[in-house]
Amino acid sequence: MSTPTPSFRPCWCGNAQLEPFSEHYRACRNCETLVSMVDHDKDVSRVADDNADLYGRDYWFGHMENDLGFANIYERARIDLTERCLFWLETLLRFQRPPARILELGSAHGGFVALMRWAGFDARGLELSPEIAALATQLFGVPMWQGPIEDQPIPAGSLDLIAAMDVLEHLPDPVATLRHCGSRLAPGGQLLLQTPQYREGATLEQFQAEGHRFVEHLKEREHLYLFSATSVKRIAAAAGVPHITFEPAVFSHYDMFVVMSAAPIAPLPAEARQPLTETAGARLVQALLDLYQAIAESKVANAVLAADVDFLKRIGQERLAQGSAEGAQLNATIADLTARLAHSEQDRADRLAVIEQQGAEIGRAAMLDGVVAELTARLQHSEQDRADRLVVIEQQGAEIGRAAMLDGVVQNLTARLQHSEQDRADRLVVIERQGAEIGQLLQLWNDRDAVAKRLAELKRPVASPARRREKHD
Ligand SMILES: [Zn+2]
Repeated sequence: MSTPTPSFRPCWCGNAQLEPFSEHYRACRNCETLVSMVDHDKDVSRVADDNADLYGRDYWFGHMENDLGFANIYERARIDLTERCLFWLETLLRFQRPPARILELGSAHGGFVALMRWAGFDARGLELSPEIAALATQLFGVPMWQGPIEDQPIPAGSLDLIAAMDVLEHLPDPVATLRHCGSRLAPGGQLLLQTPQYREGATLEQFQAEGHRFVEHLKEREHLYLFSATSVKRIAAAAGVPHITFEPAVFSHYDMFVVMSAAPIAPLPAEARQPLTETAGARLVQALLDLYQAIAESKVANAVLAADVDFLKRIGQERLAQGSAEGAQLNATIADLTARLAHSEQDRADRLAVIEQQGAEIGRAAMLDGVVAELTARLQHSEQDRADRLVVIEQQGAEIGRAAMLDGVVQNLTARLQHSEQDRADRLVVIERQGAEIGQLLQLWNDRDAVAKRLAELKRPVASPARRREKHD
């Protein structure tokens, strides 16, 4: 096996100003190709020692299985047939009809060559390792060439199509090899190539961040160039097969599948598949293609279903996230409103305290007003009373003065009265005395008859007056 040494070789396009990409690759930003920094010290396309050279038997029996974890070539011979080989054949039948002349470069176990032959194509395989070339013939009975295509006795213009699946990236001089292939094609002949697709402009960090499976192709000892859509178009033009179409790749997540030609490329009409009904082998291949198609449709249906489920899941998650966001928004609003409410309640309580305090003061003021009013009323009453009393007092005072005066009068009058009384008494005495005298006189008057009688009786003596008054009392 060759020893890798650091490479400063330029890109296939001639650009030597390469940018770092990874530990073992540089990126050509002129054509968007990743260039391996491994420079093999000999031509890896020529296997001289099948036990030691890169693409010798160990590549298939040791490296593939042990280093890369792939199935060994016997297992691949079985599983590739129902998978990639049928896919490739389906694409091939859109551009070539049996019995077109076909060479497959890097045909490995030879299964695809066998399938093409059963379909009616004049197909042959090519392998670098003598042992693998022999194995393909052993496994599938297919004709093989061994060694690089440049070494084969293929007449110019003798092939209708050269297929090279996962080969382009291994070629030490891809332009030269493609150009040689083109020269072996008949007019209108095509190259059918599958190769990893580098997403132009992308960095290793981006691929790693995406978990992109392209990084599986960063095998610097084998994959000397990793092309992009741009650089595969440019290398086609550089190799003299400038017409190119991109077909769906079986592993479309990291591969590209292209048809190149020196002439414009046009897919064949459906009738071109007529030869598949003409032999027993071809009918069997058609049956396999039908089965593959049905499975592919089922896979598509399942993928659509899975995509629908994924879509619904994503929508559900988005709705959930949206709901959560709305919920969070609502929670935030509720929290905000709660805080505002608490603040408002506190404010209300504070204001209530102020109101109560003011109310108490107002009540006290009202009470004081009442007191003042009452006191005022009392004062007024008191004043009135005082005034009334003053009047009374004055009146009484006046009356007292009058009384005093009256006392004087009374005394005077009393004195007078006493005097009068005395006088009266005196006079009464006089009067009484006079009265008595008068009475006596009147009595005498009244008694004049008696007196006369008496006088008549004067014959008799007159009695004393005292005795007479006693007699009348
Ligand atoms: Zn380049």
